Amino acid sequence: MIYNSLCGENISRLGMGNMRLPEKFGEGRPVIDFEKAQEIIDYAMANGINYFDTAYVYHGGDSEKFLGKALKNYPRESYKLATKFSYGANPDYKKVLQEQLEYLQTDYIDFYLLHGLGIGGNWNDFRDCGCIDYFMEMKEKGVIRHLGFSFHGTVDCLREIVAHHNWDFCQLQMNYYDWLHADTQKEYEIVTEAGLPVVVMESLRGGLLASLSPEAEAILKAAHPDWSTASWALRWLQRHPNVKVMLSGMSALEQIVDNVATCETDSALTDADEAVLFEACEQFRSNVLVPCTGCRYCVDTCPTQINIPEVLKVYNDHKDIPWTFMGLMRTGSKGKPMDCVSCGLCTEHCPQNIDVPHYMAALTDKLMPGRKK
Ligand code: SF4
Ligand code: SF4
Repeated sequence: MIYNSLCGENISRLGMGNMRLPEKFGEGRPVIDFEKAQEIIDYAMANGINYFDTAYVYHGGDSEKFLGKALKNYPRESYKLATKFSYGANPDYKKVLQEQLEYLQTDYIDFYLLHGLGIGGNWNDFRDCGCIDYFMEMKEKGVIRHLGFSFHGTVDCLREIVAHHNWDFCQLQMNYYDWLHADTQKEYEIVTEAGLPVVVMESLRGGLLASLSPEAEAILKAAHPDWSTASWALRWLQRHPNVKVMLSGMSALEQIVDNVATCETDSALTDADEAVLFEACEQFRSNVLVPCTGCRYCVDTCPTQINIPEVLKVYNDHKDIPWTFMGLMRTGSKGKPMDCVSCGLCTEHCPQNIDVPHYMAALTDKLMPGRKK
């Protein structure tokens, strides 16, 4: 495993994201499959990963509790914990931090982040609620070791956030797809110029970049037959020296085995390989309809209980075949696209700014041509 210095700490280049742990059905809803998830954490620890990222809201609040249990048999100094305060989930920052320490079974958090700044104009809430002063107090007491933020907003908002406080680090959505088709390059430049080290989230864009279209994969295989598709994304990130940790929300053992293998040695793409990857990306992009990462931030907001990421996945997967109700039935989504009331709450919470009601209307039109929404 390759290590980098992040805020003076020796951190594995590959970080374990705990937002997409394996699940099973239980308690009337999907719950973390503890045994399978524990196996992944154990593999991570055995193979040099020492950065574990979670959040108050992941897995409906269960991710931190799981991680606390999963890591409790390892010495506390052998791993770093990163977790986040979400104003939207619970604005009582003092209580939230206390709960998080309990869930994670620890008396300090190594890397603490304000969660998802920039979504739906939430920066003002975080800025004005007093949480930053409080977290700085906790930093002085050693309860928080390093304070940063994760970001999903506009470039102007990022500039304001960076100028507002002397942050220790930040977490950006960064991958080759967004580098070419979103503001990622500008965001990376802004924080790098400000001297803020970067932890990368969505390295594989919610798994989208782990499996491209057959045409795009053929381009990559022709260049390096032995490299997995996911490894191209991690190798590309390694070209950027201010990327200190690459998070991947690994939900199966084979994913972590593959990612660890990529990060065992320095394996940054050459200029020539980057050109190959960008060509494959453009080929793939022509097939992507909705760039949903499956983060689920929108799900609890929907008044008609549409499982939005699942429905959008069906939309993408069934691009070239006739639309039927079958694909949608398989999602188990209570609400159906035709139940959408265009309230826009989902889009307000969507880090990717996806116009969900537009797709729900398009789906309704495909399923029930002529029906007015
Ligand atoms: S716009 Fe539609 S899909 Fe989005 S939250 Fe409202 S009802 Fe649900
Ligand atoms: S629609 Fe947006 S918020 Fe909802 S799962 Fe997809 S990317 Fe996340």
